[in-house]
Amino acid sequence: MSSPSVCPPALTAVERIAAIRAIVAAARDRGERVGLVPTMGALHAGHLSLMQAARNECDFVVATIFVNPKQFGPQEDFRKYPRDLATDLRLCAEAGVDAVFHPPTEEVYPPGFTSFVEMGGLSEVLEGRFRPGHFRGVATVVLKLFQMVPADCAYFGQKDYQQQAIIRRMCGDLNVPIEIRVCPTIREPDGLALSSRNVFLNEAERKAALSLSRALHLARQKISEGATDLHVVRDEMRQLLNSTPTVHADYATLVDPDTLEEIATVLPRQVAVVAARVGVTRLIDNLIIEK
Ligand code: AMP
Repeated sequence: MSSPSVCPPALTAVERIAAIRAIVAAARDRGERVGLVPTMGALHAGHLSLMQAARNECDFVVATIFVNPKQFGPQEDFRKYPRDLATDLRLCAEAGVDAVFHPPTEEVYPPGFTSFVEMGGLSEVLEGRFRPGHFRGVATVVLKLFQMVPADCAYFGQKDYQQQAIIRRMCGDLNVPIEIRVCPTIREPDGLALSSRNVFLNEAERKAALSLSRALHLARQKISEGATDLHVVRDEMRQLLNSTPTVHADYATLVDPDTLEEIATVLPRQVAVVAARVGVTRLIDNLIIEK
């Protein structure tokens, strides 16, 4: 079913799996390379950069907009997660997206739905410890989207470092025939990573939220200055976060870029990762640091 009332003329927007399958099948029949950009909507320049990358590398670009209830915990912000379909469709059209799939919840999870992707390892650390079940929901919906929209290539942001690692692992483990591209984090000029949740920050919290990217840069600076004991660096990151009013760090640490395990000493390449609550808004960020 298309959405004629909110859908800009150049864009096809559909809510049904059968409709998006037919659209993608037609593109593939024409010999076109199909790129997929999964999102939860409330689009910003970070999402648009993924669409741009897909536009550059593919002939036909599909974006999905679906706020996935299965990746939110019972106390999390599923209900108040920002939603603005009309603006999102306009932005997709401007970004050169060919088709948007925005299914209602029951199209993705019909009554009786009981199958999930369970992942150990990567899904149990960092976000997995603070958001139990989150990556089970993410991996499940992403695999389902890959089945519904059989693309050649799918685009994810480095902003969600653990998420892209998990999706790459899932595709390897389950032999999912899709290439995964990871695009750089888009930031505000002052360094704050763009996030759909930034709209929840009041003026003071918006300033305080800068402590996340500052903690990452502190780690990079300490490593470039020759720090070797990462426990010390980690403590300094946490201190920077927790000494900022309204900020409470869930974690601030340095991990191996592949296993996501905490590391004690500097590697040629590591990832600084932070998660913090700023007021009631939970934000994450990360930075790859090369020695
Ligand atoms: P979301 O709508 O938050 O689920 O994000 C959809 C996709 O956009 C994910 O692959 C995110 O990693 C990516 N993304 C979110 N924020 C950014 C950003 N600031 N820069 C680049 N990609 C992003």
